[in-house]
Amino acid sequence: MALLEREKRLRYLDLTERDVMLLRALRPLFESHAAATVDTLCERLLAFPETAQILRDRTTTERLKQAQRNYLMRIVEGNFDDAYFAERRRMGQTHERMDLPLQFFLIGFSFYFDLFTPLIRDFLANDPARCQETVVALQKALMLDVSVAADAFIVSDRYRHLQRLDSIMKDSADVIFLLDTEKRFTHWNPAAEQVFGWREEEVLGKPVTLIIPPEVLQSGELERIDSAIAQRGHCHLETTRLARDGRRVPVELTLSQLRDQQKQPMGRSVILRDITERKRQEESKLQSERLAVIGTMSAKLAHEIRNPLSSILLNLDLVRDEVAALAKGGGHSPSEFHTLLRAMDSEVRRIERVTEDYLKFARLPKPQRERIPLNEVIVQGLAFMQSSFESAGVKLQTEFDPSLPPVRGDEGQLWQAVLNVIRNALEAMPHGGALTLRTFRAAGENVLQIADTGHGMAEEQRQKVFKPFFTTKTGGTGLGLPLTQQIIAEHGGHIECESVVGQGTTFTLHLPQATDN
Ligand code: ADP
Ligand code: MG
Repeated sequence: MALLEREKRLRYLDLTERDVMLLRALRPLFESHAAATVDTLCERLLAFPETAQILRDRTTTERLKQAQRNYLMRIVEGNFDDAYFAERRRMGQTHERMDLPLQFFLIGFSFYFDLFTPLIRDFLANDPARCQETVVALQKALMLDVSVAADAFIVSDRYRHLQRLDSIMKDSADVIFLLDTEKRFTHWNPAAEQVFGWREEEVLGKPVTLIIPPEVLQSGELERIDSAIAQRGHCHLETTRLARDGRRVPVELTLSQLRDQQKQPMGRSVILRDITERKRQEESKLQSERLAVIGTMSAKLAHEIRNPLSSILLNLDLVRDEVAALAKGGGHSPSEFHTLLRAMDSEVRRIERVTEDYLKFARLPKPQRERIPLNEVIVQGLAFMQSSFESAGVKLQTEFDPSLPPVRGDEGQLWQAVLNVIRNALEAMPHGGALTLRTFRAAGENVLQIADTGHGMAEEQRQKVFKPFFTTKTGGTGLGLPLTQQIIAEHGGHIECESVVGQGTTFTLHLPQATDN
């Protein structure tokens, strides 16, 4: 910070030789009134808590008064040399170090001006023109002192601190903006201009809804943020914001309550990062993983389809022969046709099942991100399965934690994930048994346990259950659990499996609870 040098400052204030002469002529007046004026000043300053605090201590007060008396006499000495400037600078530093806001420093000078002006009017009552000039000269001298002392505040740590904060705002790669208590923009940094396309002067004073897409507003996000901030003072979420051109920007943001010195809320700071690129990368990674699986699948699919198809073709040949024989009045009973047709039917169904499982995997739609009440989704799904349980001789037991918070995700996919596990459980209990579904909260997660009393698995087998194409069933695809695992992973969760041969198997699904967005 470059400071104004002495000559320049005097020139700016137009403090002339004549002013100096007029000030020097005030010496007798100051000599007789300096002490009383300083006392009055101190009395006035007692009215403010900030200054009263300093004047509480007697020795400090005495030292201060002495310094002030010396100062007043220095003004009427009229020597505005380097030494004078150094003294004024020190005066500013002392005040700054005492933690007095610059305003109080200015108020002190105003009081001096106020106290001396009537004295000067009395003193020069017989020469109004000179009186006027002298008052102006005093004003210039006081202004000079204020301006020099203020430098101390400008170069102070506090000021540097403010400059640093300013630089954090200006040079930050993250978007930073501040809101007042009415959620109107009060600060808007260059990164925010870049991401949203609005310039600072265009947004200041506007409500924050300017950058929130209407569908996000309707989802009640602002209310959720408010309640999170009321509870914890801050809030972190991944959501979408609106750019000037209508573009939806996926963002990760942190909101914090700002408080004044009395700890009263005075708005919010928002630090936000544009995660468009990250989202795109995640998406394409997921996509390439899926493609890799599909590649392996195609080979497998061709193989899976070839067997039933050749058997269907063979059966078709047989049917053709039979029909030909029948036409000739040959003696085959219709039941043989039925057997052949049934065989074809079951092969076609097998193809159907295999291709369906494969396609589910390949076409896994982009999950919807809604707040899902997990218990209800399961209850609804189970309602459609009653007859399957009954015909399998399986007794269903459920234990749902009613206080389970919602999860964020796609209802259809989540049910698909659960259904795959339930189907396996049923298939593991060909002679009936019990199926238990339990939900509960643990370590900030929602947990769903699905336990059967089926044949269970050996450790070696258990380790492979999530591998694509691992199956121990004739006609199995080995894709049910990989699909389940993929869905749970896309929902930010994970799945585990425990099993004891001859006793049963338990799958445990962990899903994160929906956060504020
Ligand atoms: P699929 O059901 O088509 O075989 P999955 O991926 O659903 O494919 O399951 C893979 C394998 O994991 C099954 O073939 C079976 O060996 C084993 N498995 C899955 N769930 C259970 C269970 N509840 N009890 C015993 N084994 C199971
Ligand atoms: Mg299965």
